[in-house]
Amino acid sequence: DGSQLCIANNAEKLAEHLKITGGKVVTRFPPEPNGYLHIGHAKAMFVDFGFAERYSGDCYLRFDDTNPEAEKQEYIDHIQDIVAWLGYKPWKVTYSSDYFTELYNFAIQLIRSGNAYVDHQTAEEIKAYREERRPSPWRDRPVEESLQLFEDMRRGLIDEGKATLRMRMDPKNANYNMFDLIAYRIKFTPHPHAGRDWCIYPSYDYTHCLVDALENITHSLCTLEFESRRASYYWLLHVLDTYKPVVWEYGRLNITHNVLSKRKLNRLVTDGYVDGWDDPRLLTLAGLRRRGVTPQAIKELCQEIGITRNDSEIHLHKLDHHIRTDLDATSPRALAVLDPLRLVLTNLPADHLQTFDAKVFPGRTEETYPVTLTRVVYVAAEDFREVDSKGYFALAPQKECMLKYAGIVRCTGFEKSGGKVTEVHAEFRLLEKGEKPPKGVLSWVGQPMAGQEPTMFEARLYDVLFKTSSVADTGDEWLQDLNPNSLTLKTGAISTPRITQAAPGSRFQLERLGYFCVDPDTRIGKLVLNRTCTMKETNLA
Ligand code: ATP
Ligand code: MG
Ligand code: MG
Repeated sequence: DGSQLCIANNAEKLAEHLKITGGKVVTRFPPEPNGYLHIGHAKAMFVDFGFAERYSGDCYLRFDDTNPEAEKQEYIDHIQDIVAWLGYKPWKVTYSSDYFTELYNFAIQLIRSGNAYVDHQTAEEIKAYREERRPSPWRDRPVEESLQLFEDMRRGLIDEGKATLRMRMDPKNANYNMFDLIAYRIKFTPHPHAGRDWCIYPSYDYTHCLVDALENITHSLCTLEFESRRASYYWLLHVLDTYKPVVWEYGRLNITHNVLSKRKLNRLVTDGYVDGWDDPRLLTLAGLRRRGVTPQAIKELCQEIGITRNDSEIHLHKLDHHIRTDLDATSPRALAVLDPLRLVLTNLPADHLQTFDAKVFPGRTEETYPVTLTRVVYVAAEDFREVDSKGYFALAPQKECMLKYAGIVRCTGFEKSGGKVTEVHAEFRLLEKGEKPPKGVLSWVGQPMAGQEPTMFEARLYDVLFKTSSVADTGDEWLQDLNPNSLTLKTGAISTPRITQAAPGSRFQLERLGYFCVDPDTRIGKLVLNRTCTMKETNLA
C-alpha cells in the first residue's frame, strides 16, 4: 500500500535521532489510563520493558491520555503502582498530553501543507461517507479557512460535534485507515493530567505516532489489531517529515474462562458482577495480586507463550501451572480445616497439651513449626464417614488414620444430631517404632490451649468467573456465561495459630487445600484468606 516507502529515515533525521539516543534501544509501554491493567498488559510490558532490557535500552511508561472523559487520576496512580509491583522500572513516566502543544503546532503545519482540513460532518455522516469512500464536502476548502476554524475550535468558539480536524489522506486506498482519519475533536471536558487548558483533543491515531517520534522511540511495539494502522502511522510521520520508529506487531494474549477487554472489565465492576477492579476472580493485575499470584508466575507465563504474531488464547491451566510452580517453592505450609468436625480423643485427659513438630517445607528442609494436640481437635467434615468403603482412606468407625505430624487415631464412635454428625470419638496413640502408618493422613487443628477454641478465619474459594472456555463476544451475551458459583465462602475455617498472626499479602500452602494469601480485608479479630489455587489441576470445560 505504499506505506513501506515511508519507513526509511533520511540521513539528517537519523543523525538527529542518534545524537539524542546515542544509538540506544528506546521503547514505550503506552497504556490508556481508562481502567486497571490486566494480564494482557503484563504481556505488553514483558515485550516493551523486556526488549529494552535485553538490549540495555530504555523503556518509557507513557500514559496515552487522549480521551479525557474515560480517564482518571485513580487509573494513573494504579498503573504506576502495578508496573512497580511487576518489577519494571520505567526510564521516564510521560503523558501524551505533555505534548499537546507540540501536537497542536504539528496540526497547524499539516493544515498549511494541505494535509488536514476542518470538517463539519457528524460522526454518523463521517462513518457513512467513509464506507462509501465518498469524500467530505469540506475536504477541498481553502487552507486559510481551515486555519481560522481550527483556531476557533481551540478557543472554544465552536460547539462539540460541530467540527473536527481530519487528515487529508488517501480515500482511494484499500486500507480503511488511510481514509481521512480524525486528528482532533472538540470536547469541553477537563483532562486528568492537562487540566482545563484544552477543549480540543487529538485522536489516538494522530497522537501515538507523533509522540513515538518525539520521544525518539526506536521500536514501537504494539498488538496486531494496529497492523492496519501502520500505513496511517507512517503517512503522518512522512508528511510531517519527522524521525520514524520501527513498528512491530505481536499477538494479543487472551485467557480462557475470563475476559480481558477494559470495556468488559469495567462493566463487571460497575454493574457489581464482581467486587471491584481487584476482585480476585478477575485477571486484572490488581485482582491477581490480591489473589496471591506472584509477579514471577505472571512473567513465567509470558516467557512460556513467547512473542509471536498470533493472537493466542491460553488455557487457564497454563497460568495456574506457573502459579503452583512458584508458590510450591516459596509458600510455607500450615495445617487448616475449612469445615471443622470435632474429634474427641477420649483416652487423653481434659487438660492434655502435647506439642509436635510440623514441617514448613516437607521433604525439602528440616524447618518446623509447633502444632498442639489437645483432647479436642478438629478434622475436616469430609474426612469422616459413618460407613467405610473400599478406596476411602479417611476416618470411619473402627478405622485408623494418621493425624499428620502427630500420631494415630482409631475411631471408636460418633454422635449425631438432626441427621448430622456433630462429634467423632477416637483414641490416640503414637506410631510404634517401625510401624507402617495407615494410608489415610488427616489434616487437623488442635486447640491452642486445652478448652480454648482455635481462631476462625474466612476462606474465600474461587472458581472460574465464566463457565465457558471462550466467552461469548456479542452484545450482552457474554454476561450469560458468568459462573454463578465463582465464589464460595467458608466462614468457620480454622488453622494452626501461625497463620492467624500473618499480615495481608502473606502466602501459605494449607496442606491438601491449596495455596492461600491473606486478604487486605483482614482486620483484628477477622482473618480472611483467598485461595490462590488448588493443589492440583481441576477439570475445566
Ligand atoms: P483493552 O482493549 O483491554 O482495553 P487496550 O489495547 O485498549 O486494551 P491500552 O491501555 O491501550 O489497552 O494498552 C496498552 C498496551 O497494552 C498497548 O500496547 C496494547 O496493545 C497492549 N495490550 C492491551 N491488551 C493486550 C493483550 N490482551 N495482550 C497483549 N497486549 C495487550
Ligand atoms: Mg488502547
Ligand atoms: Mg481498549
